[in-house]
Amino acid sequence: MVDLVSQYEKIKPAIDSAMQEVVAKAQFINGPEVQSFQKDLEAYLNVKHVIPCANGTDALQMAMMGLGLKPGDEVITPSFTYIATTEVIALLGLIPVFVEVDQSTFCIDPEAIEKAITPKTKAIVPVHLYGQAANMEEIMRIAATHNLFVIEDNAQAIGCDYYFTSGEVQKTGTIGHIGCTSFFPSKNLGCFGDGGAMMTNDDSLAETLRRIANHGQSKRYYHDEVGCNSRLDSLQAAVLRVKLRQLDSYIDARQNLANAYDEAFAGIEGVEIPARSAKSNHVFHQYTLQVPPQSRDALHRHLEAHEIPSMIYYPVPAHRQKMFEGLKLTMADLPVTDFLTERVISLPMHTEMQNDQVAFICAMVQSFFNP
Ligand SMILES: *Cc1c(COP(=O)(O)O)cnc(C)c1O
Repeated sequence: MVDLVSQYEKIKPAIDSAMQEVVAKAQFINGPEVQSFQKDLEAYLNVKHVIPCANGTDALQMAMMGLGLKPGDEVITPSFTYIATTEVIALLGLIPVFVEVDQSTFCIDPEAIEKAITPKTKAIVPVHLYGQAANMEEIMRIAATHNLFVIEDNAQAIGCDYYFTSGEVQKTGTIGHIGCTSFFPSKNLGCFGDGGAMMTNDDSLAETLRRIANHGQSKRYYHDEVGCNSRLDSLQAAVLRVKLRQLDSYIDARQNLANAYDEAFAGIEGVEIPARSAKSNHVFHQYTLQVPPQSRDALHRHLEAHEIPSMIYYPVPAHRQKMFEGLKLTMADLPVTDFLTERVISLPMHTEMQNDQVAFICAMVQSFFNP
């Protein structure tokens, strides 16, 4: 699905020397690279504060802690997402309220959010799934009307531009009260292990988040609140500084690949290529087709037989996971979510794809539908 070896080889000298510098100083924790990366990412995203942490799941959890959410508070989120988004809600004793996504963009449906709001609702967690933004303008309007917090799960969409109707453009992850992201190796900006970050334009919230990520510590050995130990390693920060400089060209490569796939698959009957929202660009963390449910597994096997990987993101939506069986879930049926769960299939998507590989994948998908 990804080719991280070829990607590394192209920037090997810069990466190796950045890593060697950390090793030579042995400042593995809170080395100067962490702060430099933080500043670089703040500039790239045009956001006041980036708070690096250990992974994207921690970022989501600490965002909810930082906003003061308390057990019993309801958090509205899509069921059609990676489990991390929803797991931390339950972990903190909050109540996940699962709502529908839009069938064509795979992102949370604002109308469904409004219907799910109760007096206990405290926050909305939209997910910019596969690399395209949820309808943030509408979500921020709903949140303002009902006095709710918005935490963006930007793990799949770093670098994505959101277009407001005013013409203003803002990076996803910097629009809500807090944005969260992951630097897991296969993400669009990935490190060589685990990493994550929170983003906010709110000074006091940034201070709180920084404290929570550091054992609730205000000054050394004085702990004001229960926190976490969640840091980005200096080595990972050093790698990320180098890779951040490549992010825009990586996004271009992903978009070019997506366009080639589109062209090959647009005419196939029964196959739906990923829709492009008018509200943002698409940074293509995943290229995800919708195919008839009865042919999906056969397509997967057909590709596998030709040594082409494909993946189902995600085969079981959150609201049907065993981990939530014990929770009494207050939600309507989620027919769109169930529909998508049976139809989605993602193709290899990365920055190092060769033309002959693209042509081969396209031909194998085409020959499956039109033998
Ligand atoms: C990857 C991912 C996360 C979690 O990130 P980790 O760094 O693996 O903890 C959260 N949400 C979404 C949508 C993701 O894709």
